[in-house]
Amino acid sequence: MPPPSVPEDSDAFQSLIQFLYQTPVGLVDAETDGRIHMMNPMAAQLLMPLARDAVLDNLFDVLQDAVPSARRLAARQAGPRGVLCEGLRFDGGGPTAATFPERQRTLALSLFSVDGKRLTAVLHDATRDERRQRRRVDAAANTDSLTGLPNRQALHAYLAQRLEQGNASARQLVLLVINCDRFQHVNDTVGQTAGDAVLAQIATRLRSVVDAGPGASVETVPAPLETAVAQRGLVARIAGDEFALAIEREPQPGLAAELAARVVQALDRPYALQGHRLRCTVSIGSAQAGPGSSSAGELLYHARLAMVAAQRAGGNRAMAFDDALQQRAHQRSAIENDLRDAVQRGELFVVYQPVIALHSGRVEAVEALVRWRHPVRGVVPPDAFIGIAEESGLIVELGAFVLGEACHQFMRWQRQHGALAPRLMAVNLSRGQLPHPSLVDDVAAVLEASGMQPAQLQLEVTESMAAQDASVQMRLRELKRLGLTLALDDFGTGYSSLSSLHQLPIDLLKIDRSFVSQLETSRHHRVLVEATLRVAQSLNLRTVAEGIETEAQARLLATMQCDKGQGYHFARPLTVEQFDAWLRARP
Ligand code: C2E
Ligand code: CA
Ligand code: CA
Repeated sequence: MPPPSVPEDSDAFQSLIQFLYQTPVGLVDAETDGRIHMMNPMAAQLLMPLARDAVLDNLFDVLQDAVPSARRLAARQAGPRGVLCEGLRFDGGGPTAATFPERQRTLALSLFSVDGKRLTAVLHDATRDERRQRRRVDAAANTDSLTGLPNRQALHAYLAQRLEQGNASARQLVLLVINCDRFQHVNDTVGQTAGDAVLAQIATRLRSVVDAGPGASVETVPAPLETAVAQRGLVARIAGDEFALAIEREPQPGLAAELAARVVQALDRPYALQGHRLRCTVSIGSAQAGPGSSSAGELLYHARLAMVAAQRAGGNRAMAFDDALQQRAHQRSAIENDLRDAVQRGELFVVYQPVIALHSGRVEAVEALVRWRHPVRGVVPPDAFIGIAEESGLIVELGAFVLGEACHQFMRWQRQHGALAPRLMAVNLSRGQLPHPSLVDDVAAVLEASGMQPAQLQLEVTESMAAQDASVQMRLRELKRLGLTLALDDFGTGYSSLSSLHQLPIDLLKIDRSFVSQLETSRHHRVLVEATLRVAQSLNLRTVAEGIETEAQARLLATMQCDKGQGYHFARPLTVEQFDAWLRARP
């Protein structure tokens, strides 16, 4: 239909026809009921996959399934410039849409009313736009905002994808989980913002470990997963201070260990912060895809298990997942399960080890030590379950049980033995109990219920606990305000040094067994113990030597002016009955 002003045989008319034919936008001229009057080839090409039986008579019939609302839109009052709808996106169908979702087309439809009598439909292929947008959303959902690294979800998707391809590619997939040691301490000393800066620097260094691959993909928005596949490796931040590094390489023995060594090397240099240089060691766990780890979740679980084992071994090291580790983990979780009911079932009990005044031989105190009578395993020592109780949070319940038992037993002994009874009850306090908000109130309540004087209770904390951040110290001071005694346990094994002792809110120092046991054989240890005792005296701290096993050790410590001693030489940890008998048998 030539516009009346342009003669059909003119050059201008021919150009217009050419233009309409070649334009990459679909144009349709239709009646208001959808009957197509004319359309350009692009419109036919875009609409054809939607048309039933290849019939392109009526626009609304063609769009019936894809845009059911089109007919209704056309019947609407047109907006300014005759706009009925603009850029309405819909699934453009196509023969391969169902089987190849990546080839799915997205079309965009605009409808205009012309004089209220005719319709112009404008169609264009919005597939690229749509993909780019989806990619952008995808990238945001898969990216950690602090470091710009892929997040846990992206790592999971990557691993799943690579494992699926694994059989075909014959490459080796290695996963490292990297956790910063004592990162809370970093946050506490330099502040959260600087802590974030450290994490960002860690991210950069880890990224340098994975070889740089081909540059950014053709699309402007990077899709983490595709880039990772191309580079055959990915670095992700999967939790606050936890990163993961996955790499796919030709199989080679020792690949995981080599990678771990490269990570350690990359993270070994101190981090430069404004005015600070700070080091942060890491615990690394590695796992490889193999017959036993067929899913992404499993691979991640294995690598984390190895990382936790590295942490437990003291941090600053790498460990590889193996079957023994898995077995130990099973055993741990079995113990954890059993421990859950142990308190209720009455399987826990407390034994008491006397603490003796070295100059007089008098029973000064007893230390309450927990035991577990396991129905199958027999009596389990605390070293086998205290750590598990701490990690699972059961320590709160366990600690409350021991404290309650010990305080009530202490009062029973006061009534029973009078002046011969111990004057002090020592109870161990674990790291996991300190943050508990009701700890101070709970201790006060137990004292009240048992009728025990606060000064008769001694709580023992380890060096590594007491030397921790300000919040821990505050909690210790709150406890002290109740009027009880605080002892620093296992002194010599932890972080704090003699020079920082005066900063800790403690009354008593317990010298660790490892020093006492070498007192007679190692000059070095003897000098250390002597120095410790002298510093303690100058700070007005009482002292206890742990693990005294011989008469000679006891005598030596007495001449060094150590106040009290505890150990098998005097008595092993005793049940209540054993203690009563032991006390009666004393001269
Ligand atoms: P600890 O507080 O240092 O307790 C002293 C440990 O040394 C006890 O081991 C005790 O039996 C042992 N010991 C005492 N004298 C000697 C000796 O002469 N030679 C040797 N070789 N060992 C000696 P136990 O009872 O196995 O407790 C181990 C650790 O478990 C304790 O170390 C303490 O840290 C923790 N623990 C024990 N009971 C509890 C509890 O009720 N709560 C908490 N949170 N921790 C506890
Ligand atoms: Ca202790
Ligand atoms: Ca100790």
